[in-house]
Amino acid sequence: MSAVQPVRGTHDLIGEEQRRHAHVVDTARTVTGLYGFEEWSTPIFEETAVFARSLGDTSDVVSKEMYTFPDRGGESLTLRPEGTAAICRALVTNGLTQSLPQKVFYTGPMFRYERPQKGRYRQFHQIGAELIGPAEPVADAEAIAMGRDVLGALGIADDVTLELNTLGDPESRAAWRKALIDYFSDFRDRLSQDSQDRLDRNPLRILDSKAPEDRALLPDAPMLADYLNDHSRRFWDGLRTALQAFGVPFVENPRIVRGLDYYSHTAFEFVTTRLGAQGTVLAGGRYEGLVAEMGGPQTPAIGWAGGVERLAMLLENAPEKEAPVVVIPVGDAAEAPAIGVLTRLRYAGLRSEMAYRGNLKKRMERANRVGASHVVILGEAEVAKGVVQLRDLSSGEQSEISVDRLIETLGEAPLRATVREYLGAILPPGLSAGEGA
Ligand code: ATP
Ligand code: MG
Repeated sequence: MSAVQPVRGTHDLIGEEQRRHAHVVDTARTVTGLYGFEEWSTPIFEETAVFARSLGDTSDVVSKEMYTFPDRGGESLTLRPEGTAAICRALVTNGLTQSLPQKVFYTGPMFRYERPQKGRYRQFHQIGAELIGPAEPVADAEAIAMGRDVLGALGIADDVTLELNTLGDPESRAAWRKALIDYFSDFRDRLSQDSQDRLDRNPLRILDSKAPEDRALLPDAPMLADYLNDHSRRFWDGLRTALQAFGVPFVENPRIVRGLDYYSHTAFEFVTTRLGAQGTVLAGGRYEGLVAEMGGPQTPAIGWAGGVERLAMLLENAPEKEAPVVVIPVGDAAEAPAIGVLTRLRYAGLRSEMAYRGNLKKRMERANRVGASHVVILGEAEVAKGVVQLRDLSSGEQSEISVDRLIETLGEAPLRATVREYLGAILPPGLSAGEGA
């Protein structure tokens, strides 16, 4: 049998890649926490109706990118292509529509049947945030500032530009839509096939087209700015004022329309020039009708999603793997005492491993291979004296110290309170974590 391959457009996360990935997710979780957001997790698949809604969604995601399949009971299910619809479904099914605002952070894999290329996969991961309830533009500014802070905390704020637009309210958009249809109808033959279909179903989508023949027609297309009503104009002004108060720089880009259909007013993208065509790293907007489509009341919300793979690629350095301490017993009689030392190191919060195969040379090689900072060697003589040989692998210095002094010398690593509590509870008698026994 030939070797089994991963599915096209999917990838394993191992080593440095996984560390980059985890760093993006951990950072986003921490920063959104500072803004009062709480993490939700929803299932990876949903009834297809959650994503392909009754209103007839014309986005690329819903019209051609979804992984939809009947399950064995004949029900149509879809692997989630994005998080927002599922969060709104969860808001409704968990009876939270009267407990607003809800500030939700989520992360996890998303699935889209796209042509795989750098920064574009069929299974990819998002970090995302939804601020559900507030109707004021200051909420949009706060959500955007939070996105900016995630990028800042990742050290990539200088690599991205915030592009901002308004889509107006439904009334403004209807007037603009009509003007777009009039304009593009005159050039119907010059539009891509996709955009000819879009013209009938959702002409706004044409503005988001990546086809060169479509893009050539965009510069002269009608601008929403000329069709905004008073309410939409006030919202747009309020957003820009609040963004300045949050200290978030932006450029206005009337071409930002977003991939999904349910947005109104605010639409934004953080883009970089460092990833070629796949330059949008975090994007979102305000949406009004989605909670109602899930069977809840009309509920305003603002949210964004970031692509973890693209953000991970932008990180200057992959987070280092923490260097372990490697414990090396020499001789059978030293093995049990070595396990005692190993346990004590771990309970003091120090990443530690034991090398238990081969002769001393082999075991030293192993310590080097895992990038150890120190090795702790103990043979029968050491066990008898209650000492160990501590070797610093960067300086090469070796000294004999008592087991009790070992942790003091290596320094205690900060441990999460819950871990410390657990370790304190299970600590065998005679092994105190950290205090040097
Ligand atoms: P694009 O214009 O690049 O197709 P999109 O508008 O479809 O993006 P969203 O639905 O807004 O993207 O998803 C938010 C973020 O998720 C994107 O900005 C991007 O960083 C990431 N993303 C979207 N699709 C993919 C994919 N197939 N592979 C990797 N990352 C993706
Ligand atoms: Mg897309």
